[in-house]
Amino acid sequence: MADILKTPFLEETIESCRYFWEAGWGENHAGNLTYLLSEEEVNKYVKDVEKAKKGKSVRVAMTFEAEELIGKYFLVTRAGSFFRTIHKHPEKNLGIVKVNHDSIDIIWGFDNGRMKPTSEFPAHLLCHQARLKQNPENKLVMHCHPTNVIAMTFAHEINEEKFTKTMWRLNSECVLVFPEGLGMLPWMVCGEGPIGPDTAKKMEKYRIVIWPYHGMFASGTSFEDTIGLIETVEKNAQVYMLNGGEIKAGLTDEQVRELAQAFDLWD
Ligand SMILES: [Zn+2]
Repeated sequence: MADILKTPFLEETIESCRYFWEAGWGENHAGNLTYLLSEEEVNKYVKDVEKAKKGKSVRVAMTFEAEELIGKYFLVTRAGSFFRTIHKHPEKNLGIVKVNHDSIDIIWGFDNGRMKPTSEFPAHLLCHQARLKQNPENKLVMHCHPTNVIAMTFAHEINEEKFTKTMWRLNSECVLVFPEGLGMLPWMVCGEGPIGPDTAKKMEKYRIVIWPYHGMFASGTSFEDTIGLIETVEKNAQVYMLNGGEIKAGLTDEQVRELAQAFDLWD
């Protein structure tokens, strides 16, 4: 049986979690992520581990409406994990789970099933389901706390369209990296309530959904894709904040449109 910790997707996840903390996106217990394993990854690395358990995987009851993900396998961060130290005990801080109708089976990790996945897991599943409808290649959903994006939600009007336009005007690259714009919710109580389904609804259109005064949900086809997207938004939020939220110049709406047309990004 292959050493699961040496598989490419686990090595990349562990390395990315470390970067996630170094970038300042996951202080204390903040942040969580889910990675959808491809059929190839499941067959190559997970099936043997599952077989070795002979049907004795730990089962955790869960409530979610993610019918389209039944039978899929996810790598998930555990509830209460610290991104700073995930790399020290990956078999405790991460787990591979299989989604059933109203429960999950812990196939690997979470300290041999003694710990649980992030409490945001149902919200992540809804987001995966929404993103997969837009892009069947989507693999990742991450929740994080990038400092300048949070700061910008204090300095800028909480309005998805206006927030997106401000971002696009800050740098020629912005409309190229997120031509669909940025989703944004009003402030809501975080956790297992309506914020999960509302975030997923936004993810039907956007890859990033900003939670004012808190952080964001981001998604993508790989760690590189997702982290690149978060970095772009965070960098430009930093530029905005370095200007004290007072943008006197910048690209005009017409110039943003010119860029989008030059790169054939809008219909
Ligand atoms: Zn959070």
